[in-house]
Amino acid sequence: MKGYLKSFPDRDGFFGKYGGAFIPPELVPHFKGISEAYDKLSKSTAYLNELKYIRKHFQGRPTPISHLKNLSDEIGGAQIYVKREDLNHTGAHKLNHCMAEALLAKHMGKIKLIAETGAGQHGVALATAAAYFKMECEIHMGEVDIEKEHPNVVRMKLLGATVVPVSFGERTLKEAVDSAFGSYMGQFETALYAIGSVVGPHPFPKMVRNFQKVVGLEAFEQFLDMTDELPDHVVACVGGGSNAMGLFSGFIEDETVALHGVEPMGTSDKLGDHAATITFGEDGEIHGFRCIMLKDENGEPAPVHSIASGLDYPGVGPEHCYLHSTGRVKYGSATDKETLDAFYKLSRLEGIIPALESAHAIAYAMKLAAEMPGQSILANLSGRGDKDIDYVADTFGFGEA
Ligand SMILES: *Cc1c(COP(=O)(O)O)cnc(C)c1O
Repeated sequence: MKGYLKSFPDRDGFFGKYGGAFIPPELVPHFKGISEAYDKLSKSTAYLNELKYIRKHFQGRPTPISHLKNLSDEIGGAQIYVKREDLNHTGAHKLNHCMAEALLAKHMGKIKLIAETGAGQHGVALATAAAYFKMECEIHMGEVDIEKEHPNVVRMKLLGATVVPVSFGERTLKEAVDSAFGSYMGQFETALYAIGSVVGPHPFPKMVRNFQKVVGLEAFEQFLDMTDELPDHVVACVGGGSNAMGLFSGFIEDETVALHGVEPMGTSDKLGDHAATITFGEDGEIHGFRCIMLKDENGEPAPVHSIASGLDYPGVGPEHCYLHSTGRVKYGSATDKETLDAFYKLSRLEGIIPALESAHAIAYAMKLAAEMPGQSILANLSGRGDKDIDYVADTFGFGEA
């Protein structure tokens, strides 16, 4: 797929039949404006240097690659390596696109950042970026999530963000998106809606992928440097799909590297028990873009479940849908149970407590490794598990010694 990243998406934001921008007419000029501002800035040396400076001196990039020798030995198959996005400031890959989105907003003369958040990870990363750039920040969050994710609510407030509780419907992520979008409609002249993954209307899937590309570009060089070869397999978990597109971008043009996206299989393959969108979904439209999605009997977004709240979304980034249709990326899954096992193993054997989202990628890498002696696997450790430790220990205990 030589030249892939430059040719996709097309001018209107389509990856094949997926993507686009299905938005209210009054927002069309505004999204065109974001797209034009981004295209111009992404060619500006001053902007790129500013971003480079922030990544190095504020975020702590480049993040390393670690060889999971103990885990690989225990499995006795392929060698597993991880890209350590858990060591990025705020503990996950999300700051990569939040800092870049905030910088774009600043260059566009905006004074405020708006977003929704589910578990609070995107909210915390965006609030961090807002503090850095001295911008206002408004985060919409369902009341159920506010209750569940208390430490992240405290973090956002300490960072100076306004947290808007959402009290209608299921009071979780989907309603938070509706609420944030409603608020944005009234202030899009002065604010930017900073979408938290490679989802939403064009140009967000393209911009967020390009902001996350740094993960894959670093990993390509680092892996070569460490092993003198490219990895045989690259693995990442897929919720909206941003950490996966970031890592995949570094390898997608090298056909010798197999790419694997890992979806959350939850507690069973019954609708409502998982969020394995590409595995079980059908074409549809959600939150202003076309993608594969999980629908209920009325064609509406279906309820979803995953042990990792960052993965439970009934849609998925349009680029993943396209890469699935071409076969360039294979999509598999990990259950809650396999994920917990990987969470405990990584903690106990390697001294790394992963986010439950990232543990899906590790679980899948472990399954692949068992079948692939002599090969190498690079998985994205998209974030650290601090946010999950109380939940895991209180609900499931400390794992077997
Ligand atoms: C939010 C989150 C994810 C899921 O988002 P993607 O856009 O699919 O990458 C994965 N891992 C961590 C640690 C997260 O915080």
